[in-house]
Amino acid sequence: MKYFNEVLHDGAVSHGYAQRFEVSRVVYRNKTDFQDLIIFETPHFGRVLALDGIIQTTERDEFAYHEMLAHVPLFAHGEPARVLIIGGGDGGVLREVLRHDVETATMVEIDRTVVDLCREYMPGLSDGAFDDPRADLLITDGLKFVAETQQTFDVIIVDSTDPVGPGEVLFSEAFYADCKKRLTPGGILVTQNGVPSFQGDEVTNSYRRLSSQFADVSFYLTVVPSYVGGFMALGWATDDAALRVQTQADIAPRFEGAGFATRYYTPAVHAAAFALPPFIAELLK
Ligand code: SAM
Repeated sequence: MKYFNEVLHDGAVSHGYAQRFEVSRVVYRNKTDFQDLIIFETPHFGRVLALDGIIQTTERDEFAYHEMLAHVPLFAHGEPARVLIIGGGDGGVLREVLRHDVETATMVEIDRTVVDLCREYMPGLSDGAFDDPRADLLITDGLKFVAETQQTFDVIIVDSTDPVGPGEVLFSEAFYADCKKRLTPGGILVTQNGVPSFQGDEVTNSYRRLSSQFADVSFYLTVVPSYVGGFMALGWATDDAALRVQTQADIAPRFEGAGFATRYYTPAVHAAAFALPPFIAELLK
């Protein structure tokens, strides 16, 4: 394989747009019980993981996604003790969550093969997080887990694939309703919610479904070059609107107190990430 082409599509419709990675070497390729998995090496992005033909994470720019998916809700909450991660098989979000002084980080991933292969071939993503005594890895469907568990959590992070294949159920109203039941008072749910320039309907759909369960729903933005199409939208849902409008000054003491370095997240980026350009804000209807 000389090139890996990620063809962007919305269901069956192709946007007539693709990105192409030069492939130095295919490290692993096979079908798991749930999805087609490939890990390949590239000159610029390092190693890259794709599932069902969709780029999931690259060694070069994964920090821009994992830092924002973890630190925005955890610093906004202020004292998260129990965190739930749905998906996140590569371990990047788990790594970032465990940099906080949390009691437990429960990770519910449907496909053990993703975890095993990323630990073996992209170990820098989890960076030992799976061996942290606070980490609890469960291999099951996230939809089933939130429907059946009696545990509660201060922050729930949905680091899912796109709403196709096994990830589709993680964009359903039933899933969001159960996540709501599993959150402690003042709890925060955040979600991987696609690239608005190509997947605007995902923002609109999630906004509607989350709004039926939570009093305050919006999105915040990050930019991950390998998620082609510009801004990446991350869903935000709580019952306390004040959590979303905290200022850089509110967040800064918590970030400084945590005492760890980041490459994308800062308190200023945190506050600015919630500023939605009109072309994205208009999708919230
Ligand atoms: N950063 C990526 C993105 O933005 O698309 C997502 C990364 S992570 C690899 C996505 C994970 O979600 C995969 O490991 C996949 O197996 C997992 N997943 C998909 N559907 C799931 C489900 N129903 N329950 C739990 N995990 C699921």
